[in-house]
Amino acid sequence: MPMLSYVHQLFSAEQCQAYVHMLRWRDRPLLCPRCQSCDVRPWGMYHYRPGLKRYWCLGCQRTFNDLTHTLLAQSKRSLAHWILATFLLCLSCSSHRIARELGVHVRTSYRWCWRLRNTAISYETDRHLEGIVEADDLYHTAGQKGQATQGGQKALGRRARGRRKKREPGRGHYDKDRPAIIAWVSRQGFVVIQATKDFTVKTVQKAANLAVQAGSQLYTDSASSDRALQGYVHEFVNHTQKEYARGEVHENRAECLFSL
Ligand SMILES: [Zn+2]
Repeated sequence: MPMLSYVHQLFSAEQCQAYVHMLRWRDRPLLCPRCQSCDVRPWGMYHYRPGLKRYWCLGCQRTFNDLTHTLLAQSKRSLAHWILATFLLCLSCSSHRIARELGVHVRTSYRWCWRLRNTAISYETDRHLEGIVEADDLYHTAGQKGQATQGGQKALGRRARGRRKKREPGRGHYDKDRPAIIAWVSRQGFVVIQATKDFTVKTVQKAANLAVQAGSQLYTDSASSDRALQGYVHEFVNHTQKEYARGEVHENRAECLFSL
Protein backbone atom coordinates (compact mmCIF):
# COMPACT_ATOMS: atom_id res chain seq x y z
CA MET A 1 0.00 0.00 0.00
CA PRO A 2 1.49 3.40 -0.92
CA MET A 3 1.91 5.11 2.43
CA LEU A 4 2.47 8.61 1.06
CA SER A 5 -0.97 8.76 -0.53
CA TYR A 6 -2.29 8.97 3.04
CA VAL A 7 0.46 11.19 4.43
CA HIS A 8 -0.68 14.29 2.52
CA GLN A 9 -4.00 14.15 4.38
CA LEU A 10 -2.09 14.62 7.62
CA PHE A 11 -0.51 17.87 6.36
CA SER A 12 -1.97 21.12 7.65
CA ALA A 13 -3.09 23.30 4.73
CA GLU A 14 -2.39 26.46 6.75
CA GLN A 15 1.18 25.40 7.43
CA CYS A 16 1.76 24.55 3.75
CA GLN A 17 0.52 28.02 2.76
CA ALA A 18 2.69 29.68 5.41
CA TYR A 19 5.70 27.76 4.08
CA VAL A 20 5.03 28.83 0.48
CA HIS A 21 4.51 32.44 1.63
CA MET A 22 7.87 32.33 3.43
CA LEU A 23 9.62 30.84 0.38
CA ARG A 24 8.18 33.32 -2.08
CA TRP A 25 8.77 36.55 -0.18
CA ARG A 26 11.88 35.50 1.73
CA ASP A 27 14.37 37.73 -0.07
CA ARG A 28 12.12 40.48 -1.46
CA PRO A 29 9.31 42.71 -0.27
CA LEU A 30 5.69 41.73 -0.79
CA LEU A 31 4.67 43.26 -4.12
CA CYS A 32 2.04 42.81 -6.80
CA PRO A 33 3.17 40.18 -9.35
CA ARG A 34 1.23 41.97 -12.11
CA CYS A 35 2.34 45.60 -11.83
CA GLN A 36 5.24 45.24 -9.33
CA SER A 37 3.63 47.84 -7.06
CA CYS A 38 4.52 47.67 -3.35
CA ASP A 39 1.27 49.46 -2.47
CA VAL A 40 -0.64 46.36 -1.30
CA ARG A 41 -2.87 45.56 1.68
CA PRO A 42 -4.36 42.33 3.10
CA TRP A 43 -7.70 41.40 1.56
CA GLY A 44 -9.04 38.46 3.56
CA MET A 45 -8.80 34.76 2.78
CA TYR A 46 -10.30 32.21 0.39
CA HIS A 47 -12.95 30.02 1.99
CA TYR A 48 -12.12 27.11 -0.39
CA ARG A 49 -8.34 27.30 0.11
CA PRO A 50 -7.61 27.44 3.84
CA GLY A 51 -4.55 29.47 4.78
CA LEU A 52 -4.15 31.18 1.39
CA LYS A 53 -3.94 34.92 2.03
CA ARG A 54 -5.36 37.39 -0.45
CA TYR A 55 -4.02 40.89 -1.10
CA TRP A 56 -5.38 44.00 -2.79
CA CYS A 57 -3.09 45.97 -5.08
CA LEU A 58 -3.78 49.71 -5.11
CA GLY A 59 -1.67 50.07 -8.27
CA CYS A 60 -3.71 47.91 -10.65
CA GLN A 61 -6.87 47.66 -8.47
CA ARG A 62 -6.85 43.87 -8.52
CA THR A 63 -6.37 41.12 -5.97
CA PHE A 64 -3.60 38.54 -5.90
CA ASN A 65 -2.36 35.82 -3.54
CA ASP A 66 0.83 33.95 -2.69
CA LEU A 67 0.36 31.61 -5.66
CA THR A 68 -0.45 34.18 -8.39
CA HIS A 69 1.82 33.79 -11.43
CA THR A 70 3.33 30.53 -10.14
CA LEU A 71 2.77 27.05 -11.53
CA LEU A 72 0.65 26.21 -8.48
CA ALA A 73 -1.86 28.99 -9.18
CA GLN A 74 -4.48 27.01 -11.10
CA SER A 75 -3.87 23.59 -9.57
CA LYS A 76 -6.86 21.75 -8.15
CA ARG A 77 -4.66 19.56 -5.99
CA SER A 78 -3.59 20.65 -2.52
CA LEU A 79 -0.25 22.23 -1.74
CA ALA A 80 0.67 19.12 0.27
CA HIS A 81 0.53 17.11 -2.97
CA TRP A 82 2.90 19.55 -4.65
CA ILE A 83 5.32 19.72 -1.74
CA LEU A 84 5.49 15.92 -1.58
CA ALA A 85 5.91 15.67 -5.37
CA THR A 86 8.80 18.17 -5.24
CA PHE A 87 10.36 16.26 -2.36
CA LEU A 88 10.14 12.93 -4.22
CA LEU A 89 11.45 14.51 -7.43
CA CYS A 90 14.48 15.78 -5.50
CA LEU A 91 15.07 12.19 -4.37
CA SER A 92 15.26 11.23 -8.10
CA CYS A 93 11.99 9.26 -8.01
CA SER A 94 10.41 8.49 -11.38
CA SER A 95 7.08 10.02 -12.38
CA HIS A 96 5.54 6.52 -12.12
CA ARG A 97 6.72 6.20 -8.55
CA ILE A 98 5.50 9.71 -7.67
CA ALA A 99 2.08 8.91 -9.14
CA ARG A 100 1.91 5.73 -7.09
CA GLU A 101 2.97 7.38 -3.86
CA LEU A 102 0.71 10.43 -4.19
CA GLY A 103 -2.31 8.56 -5.50
CA VAL A 104 -2.60 10.67 -8.68
CA HIS A 105 -2.73 9.60 -12.33
CA VAL A 106 0.64 8.93 -13.95
CA ARG A 107 -0.03 11.61 -16.59
CA THR A 108 -0.63 14.16 -13.81
CA SER A 109 2.64 13.32 -12.09
CA TYR A 110 4.50 13.36 -15.42
CA ARG A 111 3.15 16.86 -16.14
CA TRP A 112 4.06 18.04 -12.64
CA CYS A 113 7.62 16.70 -12.91
CA TRP A 114 8.01 18.37 -16.29
CA ARG A 115 6.80 21.73 -14.93
CA LEU A 116 8.88 21.52 -11.76
CA ARG A 117 12.04 20.72 -13.72
CA ASN A 118 11.38 23.52 -16.20
CA THR A 119 10.78 26.02 -13.43
CA ALA A 120 13.96 24.93 -11.66
CA ILE A 121 15.94 25.30 -14.89
CA SER A 122 14.48 28.73 -15.66
CA TYR A 123 16.26 30.05 -12.55
CA GLU A 124 19.56 28.66 -13.79
CA THR A 125 19.53 29.71 -17.47
CA ASP A 126 19.83 33.43 -16.70
CA ARG A 127 22.85 32.88 -14.49
CA HIS A 128 25.76 35.22 -15.14
CA LEU A 129 29.10 34.27 -13.62
CA GLU A 130 31.45 36.98 -12.39
CA GLY A 131 34.78 37.33 -10.60
CA ILE A 132 37.31 34.64 -11.52
CA VAL A 133 35.88 32.12 -14.00
CA GLU A 134 37.54 29.00 -15.41
CA ALA A 135 36.53 27.53 -18.76
CA ASP A 136 37.18 24.22 -20.44
CA ASP A 137 35.72 22.21 -23.30
CA LEU A 138 35.00 18.55 -23.93
CA TYR A 139 33.59 16.51 -26.81
CA HIS A 140 31.05 13.98 -25.75
CA THR A 141 29.74 11.12 -27.85
CA ALA A 142 26.00 11.72 -28.05
CA GLY A 143 24.15 8.62 -26.90
CA GLN A 144 25.27 5.06 -26.52
CA LYS A 145 23.72 3.77 -29.74
CA GLY A 146 24.31 0.11 -30.49
CA GLN A 147 25.18 -0.80 -26.92
CA ALA A 148 23.06 -3.28 -25.00
CA THR A 149 21.78 -2.16 -21.56
CA GLN A 150 23.76 -4.92 -19.85
CA GLY A 151 26.88 -3.92 -21.81
CA GLY A 152 28.41 -5.31 -24.95
CA GLN A 153 26.96 -5.33 -28.46
CA LYS A 154 23.20 -5.07 -28.96
CA ALA A 155 21.54 -7.63 -31.23
CA LEU A 156 20.26 -5.33 -33.98
CA GLY A 157 19.21 -7.88 -36.58
CA ARG A 158 21.31 -5.98 -39.14
CA ARG A 159 24.84 -4.85 -39.69
CA ALA A 160 25.84 -2.10 -37.24
CA ARG A 161 26.48 1.32 -38.78
CA GLY A 162 29.73 1.58 -36.84
CA ARG A 163 29.37 5.29 -36.16
CA ARG A 164 31.52 5.10 -33.08
CA LYS A 165 34.40 3.66 -35.07
CA LYS A 166 34.12 6.37 -37.71
CA ARG A 167 34.79 9.01 -35.09
CA GLU A 168 37.68 11.17 -36.16
CA PRO A 169 40.42 12.36 -33.84
CA GLY A 170 40.47 15.99 -32.77
CA ARG A 171 37.57 18.34 -32.16
CA GLY A 172 34.04 17.04 -32.38
CA HIS A 173 30.98 18.50 -34.03
CA TYR A 174 27.24 18.29 -33.51
CA ASP A 175 26.79 16.82 -37.01
CA LYS A 176 29.17 13.98 -36.18
CA ASP A 177 27.22 12.99 -33.06
CA ARG A 178 29.92 14.49 -30.89
CA PRO A 179 28.91 17.98 -29.73
CA ALA A 180 31.18 20.29 -27.78
CA ILE A 181 30.38 20.84 -24.11
CA ILE A 182 31.72 24.06 -22.60
CA ALA A 183 31.88 24.48 -18.83
CA TRP A 184 32.25 27.84 -17.09
CA VAL A 185 33.15 27.40 -13.44
CA SER A 186 33.27 30.34 -11.10
CA ARG A 187 35.72 30.25 -8.20
CA GLN A 188 32.71 31.07 -5.99
CA GLY A 189 31.30 27.66 -6.91
CA PHE A 190 28.65 28.47 -9.52
CA VAL A 191 28.68 26.50 -12.77
CA VAL A 192 27.25 27.02 -16.25
CA ILE A 193 27.44 24.12 -18.73
CA GLN A 194 26.53 24.63 -22.39
CA ALA A 195 26.27 22.14 -25.23
CA THR A 196 27.26 23.80 -28.50
CA LYS A 197 27.37 22.78 -32.13
CA ASP A 198 31.08 23.30 -32.54
CA PHE A 199 34.03 25.08 -30.97
CA THR A 200 34.64 27.96 -33.33
CA VAL A 201 35.59 31.45 -32.13
CA LYS A 202 32.10 32.75 -32.93
CA THR A 203 30.31 30.01 -30.97
CA VAL A 204 32.59 30.30 -27.95
CA GLN A 205 32.24 34.10 -27.88
CA LYS A 206 28.46 33.77 -27.98
CA ALA A 207 28.51 31.15 -25.20
CA ALA A 208 30.80 33.34 -23.09
CA ASN A 209 28.56 36.38 -23.51
CA LEU A 210 25.62 34.33 -22.23
CA ALA A 211 27.41 32.78 -19.28
CA VAL A 212 30.02 35.24 -18.04
CA GLN A 213 29.75 38.90 -17.06
CA ALA A 214 31.86 41.16 -19.28
CA GLY A 215 35.11 42.30 -17.68
CA SER A 216 35.47 39.15 -15.54
CA GLN A 217 38.79 37.38 -15.06
CA LEU A 218 38.89 34.32 -17.32
CA TYR A 219 41.32 31.39 -16.99
CA THR A 220 41.39 28.83 -19.81
CA ASP A 221 43.73 26.46 -21.60
CA SER A 222 45.53 27.53 -24.75
CA ALA A 223 42.79 26.53 -27.25
CA SER A 224 42.73 29.11 -30.03
CA SER A 225 38.97 29.73 -29.68
CA ASP A 226 39.42 30.51 -26.01
CA ARG A 227 42.36 32.81 -26.71
CA ALA A 228 40.33 34.83 -29.20
CA LEU A 229 37.67 35.71 -26.62
CA GLN A 230 37.01 39.43 -26.28
CA GLY A 231 35.63 41.49 -23.43
CA TYR A 232 37.37 39.64 -20.59
CA VAL A 233 40.62 39.88 -18.65
CA HIS A 234 42.09 36.68 -20.00
CA GLU A 235 44.98 34.41 -18.96
CA PHE A 236 45.70 30.85 -20.02
CA VAL A 237 47.92 27.88 -19.21
CA ASN A 238 49.69 26.00 -21.97
CA HIS A 239 49.01 22.28 -21.66
CA THR A 240 51.23 21.37 -24.62
CA GLN A 241 54.18 22.75 -22.68
CA LYS A 242 53.04 20.71 -19.64
CA GLU A 243 51.97 23.84 -17.82
CA TYR A 244 48.86 23.08 -15.73
CA ALA A 245 48.97 25.84 -13.14
CA ARG A 246 50.82 29.12 -12.85
CA GLY A 247 50.09 30.47 -9.38
CA GLU A 248 46.43 31.45 -9.37
CA VAL A 249 46.06 30.76 -13.08
CA HIS A 250 44.66 27.27 -13.69
CA GLU A 251 41.46 25.60 -14.88
CA ASN A 252 41.58 22.52 -12.71
CA ARG A 253 38.08 23.04 -11.34
CA ALA A 254 36.62 22.89 -14.83
CA GLU A 255 38.69 19.76 -15.57
CA CYS A 256 37.48 18.18 -12.32
CA LEU A 257 33.90 18.92 -13.25
CA PHE A 258 34.31 16.93 -16.46
CA SER A 259 35.89 14.03 -14.60
CA LEU A 260 32.71 13.84 -12.52
ZN1 LIG B 1 -0.82 45.48 -9.15
